[in-house]
Amino acid sequence: MNNPLDLDEAERARIQAKTARFAPPPAADADGRRDLVGLSRDELRAVLIEAGEAAFRAKQVWHWIYYQGATDFARMSSIAKPSQSRLAERFVIGRPAVATVQTSSDETRKWLFRFRDGQEAETVYIPDKYEDRGAVCISSQVGCTLSCRFCHTGTQPLVRNLGVAEIVGQFMAARDAYGEWPSPKGETPRLLSTVVLMGMGEPLYNYDNVARAMAIVMDPEGIGLSRRRITLSTSGVVPMMDRCGAELGVNLAVSLHAVRDALRDEIVPLNRKYPLRELIAACRRYPSASNARRITFEYVMLKGINDSEAEARELIRLIAGIPAKVNLIPFNPWPGSPYETSTRAAIDRFAKIVNDAGFSSPVRAPRGRDILAACGQLRTASRRGAPAA
Ligand code: SAH
Ligand code: SF4
Repeated sequence: MNNPLDLDEAERARIQAKTARFAPPPAADADGRRDLVGLSRDELRAVLIEAGEAAFRAKQVWHWIYYQGATDFARMSSIAKPSQSRLAERFVIGRPAVATVQTSSDETRKWLFRFRDGQEAETVYIPDKYEDRGAVCISSQVGCTLSCRFCHTGTQPLVRNLGVAEIVGQFMAARDAYGEWPSPKGETPRLLSTVVLMGMGEPLYNYDNVARAMAIVMDPEGIGLSRRRITLSTSGVVPMMDRCGAELGVNLAVSLHAVRDALRDEIVPLNRKYPLRELIAACRRYPSASNARRITFEYVMLKGINDSEAEARELIRLIAGIPAKVNLIPFNPWPGSPYETSTRAAIDRFAKIVNDAGFSSPVRAPRGRDILAACGQLRTASRRGAPAA
């Protein structure tokens, strides 16, 4: 008889096969020079050796790319000039192109990045209101296969997955814009010190590329973010949650938004596949639920839809015993959106019930709404088969 883990394995394979046809294009420029960004350390070593370089070159190049933020081989002063030129003939150190950049009245900044094939995705930098630091909100896909009813990205069909270089590249390009290289050693503060995978797309439907990108971001000889500084948000792809916990161990945020299957089926349609019982069980299994860290449940506040006191009480029954916090997100409207934001009084009542039960329940202040950079407002003009370039 199959045990549940075997079934999960089969399901994971199915998810990956399904997403393979949305693969990103090869990471090379128009002249066929290969992009070194996005390769793992082992892959980097292999391509450099194949190009006739000594094995130690990989360590130097890695340092220049991910610690110093170099995009030009001529800057790599620890590498002899002839080697620099040889590398420049065959390789590039890519960044996504900035199509547009907008800064909100609250200092939130949004980039529209254009990738080599002309497809576009958005990235947002959200500075902390009180301290000199902030979070970079990264996209994992162009569009999304899941059509959550309250989400602007969900109105854009999936165009394709983003590749490893494109995912890491969003963070690196954001750092370029703030002049935040070299990466900090030890605890040197940096403005761009946190990554949240909360941009466009469902990161667990592009798991391999996301995982490889996060491994690069966490590498201690490069950007060096700790897993505690990375949060992956999922709408609840249950079989991939276990894998994410075991392999990456980053913080997990779960887009809950409803406490009964009937409503969640409607507003987060993935619930029809992985209903609340399975989702909550996967949260209980997630590693950060068993140590000092907590799972974050995200709950968008939709007026008259999911914001009653009875639902708040049901929520605390549902997540009882999970070390968790509940982020209440006032609904961010977008052109044509079918919902309204809950009243402040309803949000406060909801928050109090959750808080009184022992769960921290911050209300997320909307950031960057004036430039459509807030949660759930991202969307690009990219269409499948029709690059926006
Ligand atoms: N696909 C992932 C991550 C991206 S969305 C996920 O769904 O978790 C990041 C968060 O914004 C999610 O919790 C999402 O449900 C929420 N969100 C989407 N649309 C929103 C909107 N219009 N207003 C407020 N939050 C929204
Ligand atoms: Fe996709 Fe997340 Fe938006 Fe749902 S909320 S449509 S999963 S990006």
